[in-house]
Amino acid sequence: MKKIAILGSTGSIGTQTLEVVRNNGDIEVTALAAGSNVDRMEAQIREFRPKLVAMWTQEKAKELKARVADLPVRIVSGMDGLLEIATEPEAEILVTAIVGMIGIRPTIAAMEAGKDIALANKETLVTAGHIIMPLAKERGVRILPVDSEHSAIFQCLNGENRAQIKKILLTASGGPFRGRKKEELRNVQVEDALKHPNWSMGRKITIDSATLVNKGLEMMEARWLFGVEPKDIQIVVQPKSIIHSMVEFVDGAVIAQLGTPDMKLPIQYALYYPERRHLPGERLDFWTLGQITFEKPDMESFPGLRLAFDAAAAGGTMPTVYNAANERAVAKFLARKIRFLDIPMIIEECMAAHTARPEPTVEEILDVEASVYEMIESRW
Ligand code: NDP
Ligand code: MG
Repeated sequence: MKKIAILGSTGSIGTQTLEVVRNNGDIEVTALAAGSNVDRMEAQIREFRPKLVAMWTQEKAKELKARVADLPVRIVSGMDGLLEIATEPEAEILVTAIVGMIGIRPTIAAMEAGKDIALANKETLVTAGHIIMPLAKERGVRILPVDSEHSAIFQCLNGENRAQIKKILLTASGGPFRGRKKEELRNVQVEDALKHPNWSMGRKITIDSATLVNKGLEMMEARWLFGVEPKDIQIVVQPKSIIHSMVEFVDGAVIAQLGTPDMKLPIQYALYYPERRHLPGERLDFWTLGQITFEKPDMESFPGLRLAFDAAAAGGTMPTVYNAANERAVAKFLARKIRFLDIPMIIEECMAAHTARPEPTVEEILDVEASVYEMIESRW
């Protein structure tokens, strides 16, 4: 029986991962970690019977412990707790479905312990790709992408020689505000930004999809995962999210992966790679689908995407500044403290105030994150 551990089991990717586990019935869940959702975690413990569980605060861990006192499960907390979940001895794969840069250290610890990573947490590769990819090689562990676009590219590359990639065509839905000009984005509200046309996801990534920052983060991840330069990654808007991404090879052939928008497909593919399993759900019907359309992204109205290319070009610590500034700005937007267009403005100002340092260590990355947070707190 395959054994897995999940960081962020109570979130959107975490619960869908457990759905895949439930539907297949042949994966054992050895360890789970979440932030604060004690209700959902209790239900998950009762259904999946992990041996080890982490909640972020001691208080939540204590509350959970009291609720599951009848079960043989050990409850831990804090960063030490996350590291324990990540390195739980029996798990072969760690699913990183946690949101934020907090995922970096546990991911590295799991890789050092020889575990394959089913990677959803974007921040890991965006900020520490230069550490993660060589480490994966050194330890002989696999990074199995969960994000639909990266899974699509990974699938397109099956049996191919990566040296023969000409470019990656990273598809984007364009989000709920596709087609709007900057002027029309000035007064959009949190509720409008949370309405994604095709995908149901966590709140933070849903806002990132509305600003196109999500595509910027995905471009930076793709660069590390597939060893391509940012200039060889073209963003293609494909509003229905049917084509999940494509690869163009040196001979001009383009290979694409298509499917209905359902995260359970890339999650299941990562868990069982290279095997494919039956997945219940809707199938694409090309007779009713009719057409698939394409557009160029509007980087003027959505500067969050342009700034990602700037951050990737500067390299080193700059992607960390991009990511950390966005993370904090999105939290402020969700708390209704700033407006929608303030998000890219804050990212831009934080990037302008920073001089990139090459090849940062994890400590340096986390220091830069903290200094960006400080700057944002003092100015906005
Ligand atoms: P959610 O907000 O839905 O879930 C986040 C999870 O992380 C929750 O289980 C939350 O726990 C947990 N968490 C937050 N803080 C901590 C902490 N300090 N310690 C332990 N656990 C913590 O996010 P998503 O599932 O949408 O996204 C997760 C990651 O996957 C992100 O990096 C996102 O960019 C990426 N991703 C998501 C996609 C999607 O379709 N949703 C697609 C591709 C990538 P709790 O709720 O209990 O506090
Ligand atoms: Mg995606």
